[in-house]
Amino acid sequence: MSDCLFCKIIAGEIPSSKVYEDDVCYAFNDIAPQAPTHFLVIPKAHIGSVSEVNADNSAVVAHIFEVIAKLAKEMGMESYRVVSNIGEQAGQSVFHLHFHVLSGRDMTWPPG
Ligand code: AMP
Repeated sequence: MSDCLFCKIIAGEIPSSKVYEDDVCYAFNDIAPQAPTHFLVIPKAHIGSVSEVNADNSAVVAHIFEVIAKLAKEMGMESYRVVSNIGEQAGQSVFHLHFHVLSGRDMTWPPG
């Protein structure tokens, strides 16, 4: 989508701190980290949020979770949190599907 911030990051039109990339997804450090390690994993194809995941695109999500598990192992992350906010009330501010991966500090539950 032409007006999507994360599509522009994937296209290289907006700079980002790359963590990982393959044909399907892109991972980069969050610009406002909420933990010592905080990166985002996004599909290269535009999907608005988890609410737009369906039988036609869910393989992308499965792949992203494989990538998260692989990166966590490579980065030595034994404990971490994966979060996806859906909708403004839940805290979604960028409407391109993304999974936050957070690690490196104590975390509370339930979230605020
Ligand atoms: P959410 O609020 O769940 O939609 O998450 C969007 C995330 O994108 C926030 O944690 C922002 O800090 C992050 N973000 C916004 N702009 C950028 C950017 N240019 N580079 C990296 N992360 C960004």
